[in-house]
Amino acid sequence: FLTDFTENELKSCVNQAYDEKFESSEIAPLVQAGNTNFLELYHGRTAAFKDMALSLLPHLLIMAIAKEKENKKTAILTATSGDTGKAALEGFANVPGTEIIVFYPQEGVSQIQQQQMVTQEGSNTHVFGILGNFDDAQRAVKEIFNDQSLARYLAAKGFQLSSANSINIGRLVPQVAYYFWAYIKLLQKGSLKPGERMNVVVPTGNFGNILAAWYAREIGLPVHRFICASNRNNVLTDFLNTGVYNAQRPFFVTSSPSMDILISSNLERLLFHLSGGDGENIASWMNALESGKQYQVNDKTRRGLLDFTGGYATEEETRSTLGAVYRETGYLMDPHTAVACKVYQDYLHKTTDVTPTVIASTASAYKFSETVLESLGIPVAPDGFKAVHSLFQATGVP
Ligand SMILES: *Cc1c(COP(=O)(O)O)cnc(C)c1O
Repeated sequence: FLTDFTENELKSCVNQAYDEKFESSEIAPLVQAGNTNFLELYHGRTAAFKDMALSLLPHLLIMAIAKEKENKKTAILTATSGDTGKAALEGFANVPGTEIIVFYPQEGVSQIQQQQMVTQEGSNTHVFGILGNFDDAQRAVKEIFNDQSLARYLAAKGFQLSSANSINIGRLVPQVAYYFWAYIKLLQKGSLKPGERMNVVVPTGNFGNILAAWYAREIGLPVHRFICASNRNNVLTDFLNTGVYNAQRPFFVTSSPSMDILISSNLERLLFHLSGGDGENIASWMNALESGKQYQVNDKTRRGLLDFTGGYATEEETRSTLGAVYRETGYLMDPHTAVACKVYQDYLHKTTDVTPTVIASTASAYKFSETVLESLGIPVAPDGFKAVHSLFQATGVP
């Protein structure tokens, strides 16, 4: 990856990205609760895992622009289900030569997520709530990217477009690294011997985070199973069980809004790799998805998917798991991580797999304080900010 960057250039980008902006000196601590390992990816500025990649992406982009001697301004278009938007705004605010434009579903993000975005500072930041869901936002942004005449028009005005979504490979590459880090931590704890495999459980929306884990394995990380956890919008669970991707279904707004997605973009990348780079087939499936809302993969691709297990958690299961884990171990999760935890518990019931396992913990519980308080059985005032204080009073978790 990024072979046109020198090692020193990469180091310089990395050192600028991962500093005291993260509240943990380890950046991504691996925390054990009961017999489960949580890889906490939310200690950056916006309290969700998007900071892991979006702290680095602006530095890579600026470096690339300089190396290419590119003199156009870069306009970064971003669709968000709640967390990418703020992390991208933070990452690109006041970065010279860039404008950052974010579209979020007006009715589909938490109060704190919305306030984080609309109060963003910076002379180059732009935020829009849209009447639609994340899929609508992402579809529109992709259409803009594919519009050649618009690209020519913008070029004449001195602009080029880029993306802060995980369709940008600069989002995925930084995410590969923390799966190696988690493995090293398991080695150090004595949970694994070198070469032994681990499982990963990832609460999944746009399929970026779990695809990064798959890239890690392609590079050599010993991973046994990829457990793909969804909320009620369980299109991926059905896909992994049947080989049919069917987006013709109701869209639900859930307590894990960053996973409220029916068109999971990065799945296209995985299918491309698994099919042996069969671009024609992939294009026909994606066209079928666009025109008829569904497609079925061929046997070869299906075999490649056998290392993935799909599962989902209902709203009720998410809350009860969040509450039970806190009561039993004192570990406080956000609703997205609770979805992953529940799906992992189901996996353990169904299999006898004792492989050491890492659950990606993708947001701070405080980002979703109201849902977390409800799950703990504590009365909630209908205000996300008051709920933050109540949650701290009730749990003492920093
Ligand atoms: C974005 C996000 C996810 C989903 O990650 P993908 O890479 O889109 O699959 C899960 N949890 C949280 C808190 C997120 O912000």
